[in-house]
Amino acid sequence: MTSIDKVISKSNFFPVVVIGAGSAGLNAALVLGRARRSTLLLDSGPPRNAPAHAAHGLLTRDGTPPLDLLRIAREQLAPYPVTHLSDAAEHVTPDEGGFTLFLNRGQTIRTRRLLLATGVTDLLPDIPGLQDGWGTNVHHCPYCHGWEVRDQHLADLIPGGGEMAYHRGVLLRQWTPHLVLLTHGAAHLSAQQRDDLEHLGVRIDERPVAQWDGQAITFEDGTRLKRDALFVTPGQAQRSRLPEQLGCARIDRGPLADVLLKVTPETGRTSVPGVYAAGDMIGEQQVVLAAASGARSAAAINADLCFEDASKRTLQT
Ligand SMILES: Cc1cc2nc3c(=O)[nH]c(=O)nc-3n(C[C@H](O)[C@H](O)[C@H](O)COP(=O)(O)OP(=O)(O)OC[C@H]3O[C@@H](n4cnc5c(N)ncnc54)[C@H](O)[C@@H]3O)c2cc1C
Repeated sequence: MTSIDKVISKSNFFPVVVIGAGSAGLNAALVLGRARRSTLLLDSGPPRNAPAHAAHGLLTRDGTPPLDLLRIAREQLAPYPVTHLSDAAEHVTPDEGGFTLFLNRGQTIRTRRLLLATGVTDLLPDIPGLQDGWGTNVHHCPYCHGWEVRDQHLADLIPGGGEMAYHRGVLLRQWTPHLVLLTHGAAHLSAQQRDDLEHLGVRIDERPVAQWDGQAITFEDGTRLKRDALFVTPGQAQRSRLPEQLGCARIDRGPLADVLLKVTPETGRTSVPGVYAAGDMIGEQQVVLAAASGARSAAAINADLCFEDASKRTLQT
């Protein structure tokens, strides 16, 4: 039994449990700890950006390896009443006054408020080579990795083309004049959109793509197109099944409709009373945005508990 196991077996109750210790969950735990809220921070594995060698676009930490960022954040929790446990929350059930969580290693935890910060999973197009290059020579976000490949020969793979292809073509042109849009079939662009892209010098290639080898695209017709890096726009899914178990409502419009959780913007409250969410899973999809949404939800949870206790004439940290 580790020392953390002992702490938890003595008291399996925490007023707040934060599930997920990426940027969102760690910043939430920091704010809750500093508000003197005894908090359990659960985590079951690497953050979404673990395949990337550096995280960019984050003030004071631009270019820091993702795992270093999280290590520093965990170290800075040390003075505060936050218990960090590496274990997965497998199942959750609402009960009187809160929730019961069942952890992978068999422990059961009770809590009054839950903050979900469990992130999303990227669903890459099923084309050989994309998964191998993910985070090194296959990117999704130009704000995160565009600078590193500026002016290089790039391709953006948007199977099916359409509005998204037009949007990405116009946007990525900001980083390089050497851009090819790969639509893996008909591009489904209007004459005006084609004209705009042509004016920007963005080439459209509708041939089906067979594979990416880190240096070139091979088309199904056997020809190759050398590129320094490839961009894609993956689909996404919630990384954990907890939102589904709780019945949290999803957003109903946009490219990630039915994936992202619907929350009240000012607080991160989900549709389920007592359950809050932050980070990628609500669409705050950059390190700094995820961290900010975690901080915002943490403050909302703390206020929620303060006022509930005041109304019941109880005081609990
Ligand atoms: C390849 C790549 C590169 C990126 N580069 C950048 C960049 O340069 N700059 C930038 O700002 N953003 C970047 N991003 C986006 C960034 O990774 C995310 O916005 C950020 O990680 C979101 O933080 P989060 O806390 O919401 O989720 P995550 O960081 O994914 O953390 C979620 C955590 O929850 C845990 N978890 C999930 N389910 C459970 C469970 N049931 N029980 C316990 N724990 C659980 C996971 O183990 C994980 O550690 C990149 C993304 C990718 C894919």
